[in-house]
Amino acid sequence: MSVGPDRPGAPTPLQWAGSDAQLLILGGGPAGLAAALAARQRGLCPIVVEAQPGIIDKACGEGLMPPAVRALAALGVGPLPGLPFTGIAYVDARAPERLRVERDFPHGPGLGVRRLALSAALQAAVAEAQVPVIAARAIGIKQDDAGVELALEGGGCLRAPHLLAADGLRSPTRRWLGLERPARGPARVGLRQHFFTKPWSPRVEVHWAEGLECYLTPVAEDTVGVAFLMDRSRYLPPAAPSPIQAALALFPHIAARLGPPASSPRGAGPFEQRVSAPRSGRVLLIGDAAGYLDPLTGEGIRLGLDTGAAAVGAVAAGRLGDYDRAYPGLLRRYWWMTGGLLALTRPPLLRRMLLPTLRRAPWLLSAALRLMGEG
Ligand SMILES: Cc1cc2nc3c(=O)[nH]c(=O)nc-3n(C[C@H](O)[C@H](O)[C@H](O)COP(=O)(O)OP(=O)(O)OC[C@H]3O[C@@H](n4cnc5c(N)ncnc54)[C@H](O)[C@@H]3O)c2cc1C
Repeated sequence: MSVGPDRPGAPTPLQWAGSDAQLLILGGGPAGLAAALAARQRGLCPIVVEAQPGIIDKACGEGLMPPAVRALAALGVGPLPGLPFTGIAYVDARAPERLRVERDFPHGPGLGVRRLALSAALQAAVAEAQVPVIAARAIGIKQDDAGVELALEGGGCLRAPHLLAADGLRSPTRRWLGLERPARGPARVGLRQHFFTKPWSPRVEVHWAEGLECYLTPVAEDTVGVAFLMDRSRYLPPAAPSPIQAALALFPHIAARLGPPASSPRGAGPFEQRVSAPRSGRVLLIGDAAGYLDPLTGEGIRLGLDTGAAAVGAVAAGRLGDYDRAYPGLLRRYWWMTGGLLALTRPPLLRRMLLPTLRRAPWLLSAALRLMGEG
């Protein structure tokens, strides 16, 4: 059920204030909507507040890791239209034919799926579970011993005993609660666009060049998603003339294989967001809002699902401290692997050694994929 002030006959946000929601969820991205479904599975009555109307697009590499595929299925999301990918290929853009190492996930495939399709499937599952989604922008938060109050743009507010903040990378909730901490690494940003072309590999390909990586994710029989991750100094905003073409100039072997664009360019970042704590009182941060490092290992959506499930579990059990205790363990492996890879590939010399090293020790990539596929 999607309701909002713009729908004739729908209750206004103010009318919802007196409703019996047990849980407010701010943000209708993957973390927020999956948490709403997890809450319904536990018999809770959540209400989601999302500023963007309709199906939501976002800059993303669009590779769902195997644990995310399994978690979404367990929540009753889908079937998701997309293309399975069996593993990951690392390719050195200086010698793409020779310097290439690829391995498969040992525990089943991941899934390349457009954000639009993922958003539509999550929204359908949430509607099926009869979770109200209020189309409104939150502008502030207040809490006391009994609950949390979310102020909405245009007037009105919502109140519930708990709030999950799934409001993304630039989470306003994190700022309102003073939970933000400065980033430690250089700012990295991303750009993505889709192109019509038959995917030529059953794996997600990560092509490494000096100062940026190019990700290729098969998302349909005739479409490949192309995402670039790079230092901010190299970034051209999506509105610039041909930002993707500028980045593709460093990957002529990819540019030569792409057909016409299938979407407009979108950007995101800076990626690194740190928190002093994942919770303040009755407000629990989940998904990117709870801290993020980099999309390099393609695990953002999995983390959003895991943090959301743990936060819902803590709310359902009435023990919010459970979330504080679970949180470090949920993120540890991701921060270690992604942080390690970033640190190793930042100095140009080490970066150039990545693929030759992986060729000599391919078990390193196998071990990484085993970890990414578990859970
Ligand atoms: C270039 C790039 C490539 C990536 N590649 C991958 C990948 O291959 N695989 C993967 O798993 N992850 C990837 N990620 C990460 C992934 O996109 C994120 O981790 C994921 O979107 C986080 O979901 P979320 O629900 O926490 O946040 P979001 O998807 O950002 O959703 C947050 C929602 O909150 C809403 N919101 C914010 N503020 C308010 C407000 N004040 N009031 C109401 N609503 C509000 C927003 O409108 C938004 O819909 C990538 C990210 C980037 C940038």
